[in-house]
Amino acid sequence: MLLRHTDKEIKERSALTVNPAKTCQPIGAMYAALGIHNCLPHSHGSQGCCAYHRSTLTRHYKEPVMASTSSFTEGASVFGGQANLLEAIQYIFTVYNPDVIAVHTTCLSEVIGDDIPQILARAREDGEIPEGKYVIHCNTPSFVGSHVTGFANMVKGMVHYFAESGGKKLDQINIIPGWVEPSDMREIKRLAREMGVTTVMFPDTSDVLDAPLTGRHQFYPKGGVTVKELQSIGDSMGTIALGHFASSAAAEALDAKCNVPYEILDIPYGLLATDRFIDTLRRMAKVEVPESINAERGRLVDAISDMQSYFYGKRVALFGDPDQLVALSEFLVTLNMRPVYVVTGTPGKKFEEQMSRVLEEIPEAKFKQAGDIYLLHQWIKNEPVDLLMGNTYGKFIARDEDIPFIRIGFPILDRIGHSYFPTVGYIGALRLVEKILGAIMDRQDRDCPEESFELVM
Ligand code: SF4
Repeated sequence: MLLRHTDKEIKERSALTVNPAKTCQPIGAMYAALGIHNCLPHSHGSQGCCAYHRSTLTRHYKEPVMASTSSFTEGASVFGGQANLLEAIQYIFTVYNPDVIAVHTTCLSEVIGDDIPQILARAREDGEIPEGKYVIHCNTPSFVGSHVTGFANMVKGMVHYFAESGGKKLDQINIIPGWVEPSDMREIKRLAREMGVTTVMFPDTSDVLDAPLTGRHQFYPKGGVTVKELQSIGDSMGTIALGHFASSAAAEALDAKCNVPYEILDIPYGLLATDRFIDTLRRMAKVEVPESINAERGRLVDAISDMQSYFYGKRVALFGDPDQLVALSEFLVTLNMRPVYVVTGTPGKKFEEQMSRVLEEIPEAKFKQAGDIYLLHQWIKNEPVDLLMGNTYGKFIARDEDIPFIRIGFPILDRIGHSYFPTVGYIGALRLVEKILGAIMDRQDRDCPEESFELVM
């Protein structure tokens, strides 16, 4: 097997990553751009990057992901990609007719130093951007950051290009959902609706990357935040930004530009983070929490207390994106489990600060930002865990070490469900409870002696 050669002995590595716990920036920019209605993401670089980014998103969401590319060859690599981008903009509006082209850079165009705002100004001067159409951009050099940084950069770009302040406040709350699934975005909007709160979610990939099969191909599915909605975010009463790494930059930029107060919260995974989200929405929109949401919470608390003994003391290793890991670890602690190893590939000291807070009652816990899956495997080899949680790449460790494994995060290439069933909110937390229990109990049934093989739990 692939990871049989993982060495138990841990040596300090500063210039080598083995099995990264992240992907590259443009994937995040592309995912965020797909959350704008009638938007075509555009990769300013060579075809190979765009093909890789599209195929990773397509494999995760099981939906065809459309994006265009500046298609760099040797000429552009030497002289810069201005001519390619100008031609691409003209061609895209003529042939594919999007409302928005969302340009992101790649390693190559960043190294060349292409000045995208200058190229877009030139396109505007040349009349290549039709009336009522938009070209936005963000820089996504992949030699720094991760797909989460790319996502954050594109969401900040939305604020930069679209947010306006009309002077009169609108009765609406902005929600920046962070890097979560389309199903999660739908669930967050449902919770807000249930509370009677009007929201503008940006980006919003529900009904884009989980669109129903209708027998008729729609190049631009019906979902996504519209340009009109994006232009209104500067007049909202406030912004709830979910996840420090993916959402705080856009919330801060909107406050600086249009004076919209914001609160940065954890992604609402689990009981406590969902409580904080509901409470913030209640305060910001000045509404009451309806009984229906209290009942959802009650059902989650009931399930947790019924199953307490199965969770207690179980050691868990996790890897993936920082915003997801922070909230997920907190939920595991709520369940009386022990998240002992937590690794993200995304760099950022804030992660360690957040994890120290969340794991302060787990003294044996180790966590690392800008780490890799190889290190996580080494930790597991030295002292095993009862459960592994992470993206598809965790299956190699799970198989080699014979550990129950739950797929969560990005990318999940070998299962479905993540884009259909939410993990956020009280209902999402119940799904997590069910998955964790299923994994633990399946293992118990597999390994227990015949006399303990119980029919009823
Ligand atoms: S890391 Fe850079 S070169 Fe590689 S696919 Fe990503 S953008 Fe392209």
